This record gives sequence, C-alpha cells and structure tokens, in this order.
Amino acid sequence: MSLELDVPLERRIGKATANRIHKTLGLRTVGELLRHYPRRYLHRGELTDLSRLPMGEHVTVLARVVEVRGRAMANRPGYILAVLVGDRQRTLALTFFHRARRMHEAKEHELRVGRVGLFSGKVGSYQGSLQLVNPRYDLFEGGEDARDVATLVQAPIPIYPAGAGLESWQIARATKVLVAGLAPLPEPVPEQVRAQRGLMPLHQALVAVHAPESMAQAEQARRRLRYEEAFVLQAALLRRRAARLLLPATARPTRPDGLLAAFEARLPFRLTDGQRAVGERIARDLAAEHPMHRLLQGEVGSGKTVVALRAMLTVVDAGAQAALLAPTEVLAMQHHRSITALLGDLAEGGQLGGHDLATRVTLLTGSQPAPARRRALLEAASGQAGIVIGTHALLQEGVQFAELGLVVVDEQHRFGVEQRDLLRAKGSVPPHVLVMTATPIPRTVAMTVFGDLETSTLRDLPSGRRPTSTHVVTGDNPLWVARVWQRLAEEARAGRQGFVVCPRIGGADDTGPEQGLDDLVPDEPGQSQRPPAAVLDTLERLRSEPALAGLRLDMLHGRLPSEVREQVMSRFAAGQVDVLVATTVIEVGVDVPNATVMVVLDADRFGISQLHQLRGRVGRGGEPGLALLVTDAEPGTAARERLAAVQQCHDGFELARRDLELRKEGDVLGAAQSGLRSSLRLLRVLRDEDLIADAREDAAQVIRDDPRLDAEPALVAAIDLLVGDEGEQFLERG
Ligand code: ADP
Ligand code: MG
Repeated sequence: MSLELDVPLERRIGKATANRIHKTLGLRTVGELLRHYPRRYLHRGELTDLSRLPMGEHVTVLARVVEVRGRAMANRPGYILAVLVGDRQRTLALTFFHRARRMHEAKEHELRVGRVGLFSGKVGSYQGSLQLVNPRYDLFEGGEDARDVATLVQAPIPIYPAGAGLESWQIARATKVLVAGLAPLPEPVPEQVRAQRGLMPLHQALVAVHAPESMAQAEQARRRLRYEEAFVLQAALLRRRAARLLLPATARPTRPDGLLAAFEARLPFRLTDGQRAVGERIARDLAAEHPMHRLLQGEVGSGKTVVALRAMLTVVDAGAQAALLAPTEVLAMQHHRSITALLGDLAEGGQLGGHDLATRVTLLTGSQPAPARRRALLEAASGQAGIVIGTHALLQEGVQFAELGLVVVDEQHRFGVEQRDLLRAKGSVPPHVLVMTATPIPRTVAMTVFGDLETSTLRDLPSGRRPTSTHVVTGDNPLWVARVWQRLAEEARAGRQGFVVCPRIGGADDTGPEQGLDDLVPDEPGQSQRPPAAVLDTLERLRSEPALAGLRLDMLHGRLPSEVREQVMSRFAAGQVDVLVATTVIEVGVDVPNATVMVVLDADRFGISQLHQLRGRVGRGGEPGLALLVTDAEPGTAARERLAAVQQCHDGFELARRDLELRKEGDVLGAAQSGLRSSLRLLRVLRDEDLIADAREDAAQVIRDDPRLDAEPALVAAIDLLVGDEGEQFLERG
C-alpha cells in the first residue's frame, strides 16, 4: 500500500487534532481518515430543515442567526445568551451559559443576527421547543445579508459522522489538509475496469469526496468509492474461490448400485424437478478432483434435506464419510431421527438384520452423556459411521473422522466462515462442502455473504403442496382469539397437530428473549405495552382453555435440558403430543409432516423471514397448513405492515427482500461477517444490487485473466486489508 496512506496523522495535521481523532474515531493514519467519508453535504444557500431534528441526538445544522438576547442571570453569577437560529417557519433555540462576562460578550459579538454557520450539539427541549445547550459552532465569512447567502455559489460543505468532542468541521479541516498534499495513489481498481465503467482514479475520488467543488463531483466520487468497495469485496471472494478450485480433493463419483440407489428405490415420493437438477449438479461436483463449495438455498419446505442426504449417500458409496452440521441441538436431533427413519434398514450398518449396503448414522452433540459421546466419537473415528450429524460439538478438537469426504452445513446463517474452515480441516484432503440456507436470501446477499460459493436454488415446493394459508388475528377481539383455539382443537381432534409459538419463555428466571432469538423485533410504536406472550404462562392458560380440553399439550424451549427437548420432539414427531407450545427453537428446520396449524402469539415481535419460516413448519404432509398470526399491534403501524406482507405473499425470496429493506445492514451480513461488514462504508447490499452485480462480473474477468492478481498489487493490498490474511491461511491449510 502507498506509504503516504500509512503515515500517522500527527505527521500531517496538528498533534492535538490527531489525538482527538484517534480518541473519538479510532483512526490513526492518513489512509484511515481519508476513508472516513462525509455522511452527506450541505449547501450554503440551503438551510437545514429544523422541523425534523431527532431528540437526544448529536446534530450538525446549517442555520442563520435570527435573534440574539443576552442577559445576566437573575439568581446567581453568570450570563445567559439566548440565540434563535432558523427561518420564518421554524427556529431552534441555542442557549449559552457563561460565567465570565468577557466570554459572554465575545460570543454575543460573534453571533450577530444574519450570520450563517454550522451549529452542533445534542438536541434537547426546553419549555416545549427544541434547543441546543452550549452548542459548538463554525460561522461562515460574510452572508449577513440574505441575498448574499442565497447567491453564494460555493462548494458543498461535507458533514462527517461526528460526535461530542470532535465536530464535523474539525474533521473537514483535517481532511482538507490531507487531500491538499496528497500524492497520486496506487490504484485498487484496474485501469481497464475504470475506463469501462467511467470511474475516476482513487486519488481524484478522495479529493472530491472530502473537498468537492460541486455536488455532481461529490456524487461521482462517491459512486467510484462505492464501486471500489463492491469490487474489492468481490475480488476477495472470487480469488478465494479460484484458490480453492486449485486444491486437490478426492473425487467421489456416483455408484449406480450402492446405498444411494437402494435409498432411491424406496423413497416414498418423487423428487421434484428442482431436486433432481440440483442433485445432478452436486453429483458432478463430487465427481471432480477439486473440492465442491456449493450453496443450496431454497424456499422453506422445498426439500433441501433430501438433496443433502443424496449427496451424503453418494460419498458413503464412494467409501468416505459425511458430516452434517446443524445450528441447534433440536435440529441435529431431528435430522438424526428423520434421516435414520428415511434410511430404515439402510442405516443399520453392523447390526443384525441390517441391509448389506447399510451404513450407520451417528449423533454427536455437546450435551450428550459421556458414554453416548464416547461411542459417537469412536464410530466417527473408526469410519463405522457413514453419516455423523451434530452441532458445534463436531468442530471440537477431539472429533476425528476416518475419511471425511463431505461436509454439509445446514442453516448456514448461524455459522461463520471460520467454522466452515474448522470442519473442513478435519479431512486429510479438503472435503467437499455443501452449505444450505434456512431461508431464501436475496440475490445481493448471496453475492456478498456467500460470494465465494457456487449457488443452486430450489424454488418450488413438492407438487400438490399448497402454501400455508395465513391470517392475521387481532387480539383485541376475544371472539377471534377463541376461534383460534377452536381451529387448533379441530385440527388436533382430526388427528393432526399444531404449534403455538411465543416470543418469550417466561418464568422466574426470564431474562428476556431466549438466547439465539436476538432477531426479535425490538419495541416499536403501536405494539402492545404488556410483555410479549411467554411459553410457560401460555401452556398454563391453554391447559384450562375449554376448547382444548382433553388434548395433549407440551412445551419446548431453550432452557429445557437437551434430553428433555429430545424427548418432547420425539413424542411430538410420533404424534403423542397434539399441541406444542414453544419458542422459535422450532423456527428452523423442524419437520413434522402431520403438523397443520401454526399459531404465533404476539406475531408482531417476529421479523418477516422468521414468520415465513415458522409457517413453513406446517402443511408439509398432504394436508393444507394454516398459520394464525395473533397481534395486538395497532392498525397502520410498521408491525401490522409486516404481518400483512406475510399474509399476502408466499414467495420467500420476495419476503426476504422486504425483510432486508426493513433491517439494518449489519443484521443481514451476520455476526460471522463482522470483519467485512465494518469495512463496507458506502455500499448497501440492497440499494446497490446492480452495482454489486457489475463489480462481480468485472472482478471475475480480472481474476480469470490473472488468478493470482500479479499485475494488481494495489488490489491485493486492498483485499488483504479487507479480509486480513485469511486467504493465505486458507492456502496453507489446503
Ligand atoms: P426444507 O427445504 O425446508 O429444509 P425439508 O427438507 O425439511 O424442507 O422437506 C420438507 C418436507 O417435504 C419433508 O417432510 C420431506 O420429507 C418432504 N419432501 C421432500 N421432497 C419431497 C418431494 N419431492 N415430494 C414430496 N415430499 C417431499
Ligand atoms: Mg431444512
């Protein structure tokens, strides 16, 4: 990287300012401060709209002084200077307190009526109107005459993310000094790409973003810098992918007469076209001598598990093992149960009466009793277990495989890249990897978060299955709520089953939402004031609900010991429980085909994708599913809009898109990507979808021509800055 960018700030700007910048923004070098871009720009002729100041926040406004009144305080020594800034429509009060008369008079002299400047401070209120107490300010020269300001054709004023202790204009002064002396910089975006996309050089962009001559210039600079973020990220992901393609892996070609064939012969349904096509694609990947890295994303209920199981059986047929990594114990246990059931005697390897080709399916979780765990470890290490299913426990050091050929990561969004790598490292040669997402994800998220993977998509539900019909029930009407319990009872009495999902567990040691439920929607206007429904209370209440009399009720939540959870899930799966009151531990993956009703209490507490997941838990067998979203949220609120969206739309990809629009970017990229996330400054995954796609295309071209990027040292440096030396580690491990 350019030496200039690495120069400590205090060598270029005053030591005091450099220190303050380090203290408040954590920035140390010239390069770091230059990448601290303005949040927006103000124009001298355009005063800030004072009607929309956020209470309690630090703001910087551009305003004109309209009134100044100074006086001595009545009851104690000192002075008050009351200044009004604003325009005819709206004013903001600035109140200065001074002890010394000299200070008071100096301010009074500076803040003359008609002067225009930036004022900054925390928005408070006094006697019903907004005010800033002892704000800091930066006045412009001239402009005391209204015509003068309006006609001043001047450069936009950059407004930086700032805070108490460091004002926007102080940052602006510092960046101005830096860009004034800035030498040409090494260029991360290759010239040919820049020419093709009409992007200015980096040097010019940094000058223009901090000290633009016009808004148009600032906009162009921002476009270029935003593109650069997308391009460097895509180059990083694609280089990672290219490096992986060079690694050796053991080919696992499909055997026509093995376990897979035996399994297919007894599959109780026909594969959908999508399942078949994706399956063929995976089979081709597995037969190659380089590791597969494929993302399988799909509509909720589209049948991803069978696709994964076929891949696992292919690998077992080829003499190796497959590991299936699930995000929760409930899911790991369910996979173990359902895969064992699907395989029947094909899973009874080594047992009397097992099929000739049979293998063994082993469960390994963190809370298993020691003997079970020892047996599982042994089966994995000896190779007796063809399929090992587990949670994070699979990643631990003591876990060894005889020959790990395939890693399937289910519901990937909860696992990070590092964890994928940990598991991959358990093979002597890199295993093939199949990642499955829990929910459909929008295209840009696939490109950014999973951009180093090949992707396959399952859009359709198995034929004959209708989407779960969904209704919003407002809790203020007792008749409707009574009807909810009646419907639940009707289904249960007809031999089917249902869920009642609550946002909380409840009980004495309730510490708020269940761990792992951090995507619950925080309090927002229009939601019910009482605490959201809790599993423990709801179970009590439903036990005495006349409509449900005689039905078998049980509960499931994260505070129960894992053996209990396992028992409850098995009983529910076996049809011995009619109604399961639960938290979102059942959100992802749970598959009980006989379940037809999903009641969600305080549904406004859940996000759009979460609700789509929840209703995807029912109607998976032959019978139609019914989702009842109960809410006390007031009509017209954001909460009710979310529920309406879920009611009307059944396309998970579209819902994921809407969800993304409503969420903060960080939530989308997920904790695992935190390193990347913090470096995305201007890029927004949804808004910049086209730009990300362009950047991906360009990066792919550049890497195709020069896989190691030998001709682009500045790009390599930028990638390293973005992803650390992860790329190198990866190559070493391979
Ligand atoms: P998801 O994609 O949400 O993980 P699952 O893999 O859990 O979905 O499958 C949902 C249900 O559909 C399961 O009960 C599964 O056995 C069933 N299923 C899968 N594929 C088919 C198919 N082709 N025809 C009918 N049912 C299927
Ligand atoms: Mg699933």
